[in-house]
Amino acid sequence: MLEFAHVTKCFGDLPAVDDVSLSVARGQFVALVGQSGSGKSTLLKMVNRLVEPTMGEVLVGGAGVHTEPAPALRRRIGYVFQSVGLFPHMDVAANIGIGARLAGTPLTGKRIAELLDLVGLEREHARRMPDELSGGQRQRVGVARALAAQPELLLMDEPFGALDPVTRDALGRRVRELHDRLGLTTVMVTHDMTEALLLADRIVVMAAGRLVADEAPRALLAGAGGEIAQALVAVPR
Ligand code: ATP
Ligand code: MG
Repeated sequence: MLEFAHVTKCFGDLPAVDDVSLSVARGQFVALVGQSGSGKSTLLKMVNRLVEPTMGEVLVGGAGVHTEPAPALRRRIGYVFQSVGLFPHMDVAANIGIGARLAGTPLTGKRIAELLDLVGLEREHARRMPDELSGGQRQRVGVARALAAQPELLLMDEPFGALDPVTRDALGRRVRELHDRLGLTTVMVTHDMTEALLLADRIVVMAAGRLVADEAPRALLAGAGGEIAQALVAVPR
């Protein structure tokens, strides 16, 4: 479903992503972990062409991401940004529907209500403005917006970073449930190894732009993945 083939991205001389090859099968839930600056966001951004690779190729559904116009590509990919990025002057319904509206196929009220249900928000939240929501509710709106176009691929960049542990757990479980129910392929960047171990089928570890481990949670817990991966496992939440 998603493939990186020897992908490198340099900013100036420095490689932010350094020769990464990775293949994510349809239906998999992958957690992408690694220290700050290791290249996680840069890797994700290359999937929907917010960043162009210096070398190598990214493929979605078997086709290179350059084989179709970026807007069409982006409609097939749900993306939850590191900072949620809701438009402050638009209510929740307008934020969820922005992609559909830009594509010329506005969402119906019924569809908005469905999306709110999916992410566990009340229907009355549709008319609220982002600053009238809690951080957790805003993240839910971000997830609803990402799911609005019924994508096959869901990319999330630290979606729950700023939340308290309880809300974070609840939202993480909800996202995993949605992943299973909607048959998604999901890549989630997280700094929280506990979250990664709990939610993902597979944990990919980056360090200094390189992919240094790729293991099932059970294997990581049993000591696999090498020094860098084990150092991350050892750090409490
Ligand atoms: P974090 O966990 O803090 O979000 P990250 O793993 O997502 O970190 P990236 O944002 O991918 O890391 O950044 C990787 C490296 O690339 C960093 O050294 C960063 O400074 C650099 N970088 C990212 N974007 C740019 C840019 N637009 N211009 C120059 N350098 C960049
Ligand atoms: Mg990042």
